[in-house]
Amino acid sequence: MRAVDLIRTKRDGGQLDRAALEWFVAGVTDGSLPDYQASALLMAIVLRGMTAEETGFLTGAMVRSGVKVDYPGLPRVAVDKHSTGGVGDKTSIILAPLAAACGAYVPMMSGRGLGHTGGTLDKLESIPGFRTALSLDELRRAVRTIGCALIGQTSEVAPADRKLYALRDVTGTVESIPLITASIMSKKIAEGIGGLVLDVKCGDGAFMKTESDARALARSLVDTGELAGVRTEAVLTRMDAPLGLAVGNALEIIESIETLKGHGPAGLESLSVEFAARMLVLSGLQPDVAAATARVRQALASGAAVEKLREIVRNQGGDPRVIDDYGRLPSAPDRDVLAAPRDGVVAAMRAEGVGRAAVGLGAGRDRLDAAIDPAVGFMIVAPVGTRVKAGDPIVEIHHRNGHGLADARRLLEAAIQIGDAAVAAPALVLDRIAGRPK
Ligand code: URA
Repeated sequence: MRAVDLIRTKRDGGQLDRAALEWFVAGVTDGSLPDYQASALLMAIVLRGMTAEETGFLTGAMVRSGVKVDYPGLPRVAVDKHSTGGVGDKTSIILAPLAAACGAYVPMMSGRGLGHTGGTLDKLESIPGFRTALSLDELRRAVRTIGCALIGQTSEVAPADRKLYALRDVTGTVESIPLITASIMSKKIAEGIGGLVLDVKCGDGAFMKTESDARALARSLVDTGELAGVRTEAVLTRMDAPLGLAVGNALEIIESIETLKGHGPAGLESLSVEFAARMLVLSGLQPDVAAATARVRQALASGAAVEKLREIVRNQGGDPRVIDDYGRLPSAPDRDVLAAPRDGVVAAMRAEGVGRAAVGLGAGRDRLDAAIDPAVGFMIVAPVGTRVKAGDPIVEIHHRNGHGLADARRLLEAAIQIGDAAVAAPALVLDRIAGRPK
């Protein structure tokens, strides 16, 4: 096989077969395919697209570039959830213990924050001692014994994706539905799960800005999962404003724990319950979403879900006392307030601007190797729809010695819009996309 033939085929709008895509991925993984040829093929894929079949072949080859985890002896398939990323999105930290408290097996592999979106691993690591770098054996043991582990991508899982993503990042080839699909789904399929719920976000703070792009990505992700034998469904959700009231790592851990204790913001709680319920159905534990929702709500009300989080934290070396004592989490030394400039109604709080402001304070990173400050961030006091008077607090800013504060204030001011008419907080769920009937 010659790389130039694959590049020409795709450049001219042709289709690549399974053998060609296996060869391409193997060459990327072992370094025998030069970056310039891999990049040329990636660009041809961006411009010409891929059929669902090609996307499935590419995904399968990426799964086979590393280890596919298995869980011998589990009585049910393992299940997971993946979000395409947003601002204030801490649902994984809530729904993983929720689903595990109801009997699901959840081997959740998450990522770090990059750009304006936060990452589950960074949030978890604000818990003193919490280890996200578990080995695959530790992951299997955790799933078998307590039902859940919350960990980072290990080097054995889909190594082709790490190489391809690094190339895509510097060659303008990230924005492609088949490439995004293969990247996300290869990692999830390699986790060894039998069911997956996808939160495909759309709007100002999301990767996909328009509903039609988000819908196309959701369809591609669901079809690819189903083709690989993973029962997959997607929920299309809005990411126009931050999810919940906390933005920033330790602040989001507190909000997650509060939600597990039954005191979370309504939208965040209902989304977390919906995802956990769908996971129970996909795992075979519950017959339908209505029954599963009742079961999940019972786990919230009984305290079983927050106790499961305590178990997970203890199992991964974290300080479980944080569940009852938030003073054990990092806390920023300084506070400031962004106040309403006039009487009115908070009409918009654009998520991307809020996310960028958080990165400026130190809560996120622009480069993957940058350090973050777990303590800084925002508490939204007046979310979209709140009526305010001039001078009322809209956002409480948690900062360290004024680092990034002036820029954060400027970005927040631009992100927040005050109107006159009453505004209803928009519904978070836009649609649900299931696998096609076989
Ligand atoms: N997230 C991923 O894991 N991969 C992509 O290509 C885009 C978002």
